Amino acid sequence: MRISELLDAKQTFSFEIFPPKGEMSVSQATQIADELMRNDPDWISVTFSAGGTGGSANTVEIAKTIQATGKTSALAHLTCLGSSKRDVDRYVERLKEAHVENILALRGDRAPGREVIDFTYASDLISYLKDSGLCVGGACYPEGHVECESLERDIEHLKKKQDSGVDFLVTQLFFENDDFYRFRERCARARIKAPMVCGIMPFTSVKQIQRMAFSCGASIPSKVVRRLVQAGEDPESQRQAGIEYACEQLLDLAANGVDGIHVYSMNRPEVGKATHDCLRAAGYLGARP
Ligand code: FAD
Repeated sequence: MRISELLDAKQTFSFEIFPPKGEMSVSQATQIADELMRNDPDWISVTFSAGGTGGSANTVEIAKTIQATGKTSALAHLTCLGSSKRDVDRYVERLKEAHVENILALRGDRAPGREVIDFTYASDLISYLKDSGLCVGGACYPEGHVECESLERDIEHLKKKQDSGVDFLVTQLFFENDDFYRFRERCARARIKAPMVCGIMPFTSVKQIQRMAFSCGASIPSKVVRRLVQAGEDPESQRQAGIEYACEQLLDLAANGVDGIHVYSMNRPEVGKATHDCLRAAGYLGARP
């Protein structure tokens, strides 16, 4: 099903998985998707790894398997730096053959050897995909994209994604819901109306949260640091603290009527289940509150 239609009907609940890069096989990734599906998500997104060791090839394969179950919809990511229009055409063709209807159109991170060929920004890719027949999503950044000089300028660039025909947006992870609520208001003032799905990542360790904060520019509030300090050195206590914090974030977002909730479950089905269970127990998941 098209994600835009799901978002019209309800507050959605979804997961992200990332494809194997050598340390995991496609069948293991498919097994993770299978376990995540037990939580009845509206869709599962599959990341794309440009120039990686097999990551991009596996995106379509995993998305196809998810779609073929008939239990949920698949969202296949695609980055465009270093890709030509022909590459994109081939990718779209493969998605259509696999009956995958949703694509997340991204620029991708700058890296040596990943130069601009036909697309400079994600909005160029979104324009190109507009007539593909796919439902096209884009990324947005409640704290601003790391490369951009200001949040205000980043929102101007986000408006270009909407003007290019984006159907929905998925946020970068954030640990402070107020950052998202302020961002949502600023976007509304900038006449950005595309539905926004909130991406939340339960942290699993001090190292992991530091790495994520550095790579995507999400700030770590002192209340998160306090939780981690209280959890001490024990990895299981740190993981539990991350799940508890994420559940509090999710319940607050659901109560505040966000369009959708997307859990970066880090390929860990038990994390997906914990987030599902807390929302379900509080009476969310289903009709828009
Ligand atoms: P863009 O929207 O093109 O923005 C990139 C930068 O350019 C921003 O600073 C923006 O402000 C600026 N900009 C945009 N338009 C203009 C313009 N017209 N003029 C001047 N500046 C402009 N990466 C992967 O490799 N694989 C994935 O699967 C993946 N999935 C992701 C999923 C989500 C939900 C998110 C939030 C990110 C994901 N990423 C992924 C990371 C993403 O590729 C990086 O954040 C990347 O640096 C930016 O991608 P973008 O699509 O937001 O780029």
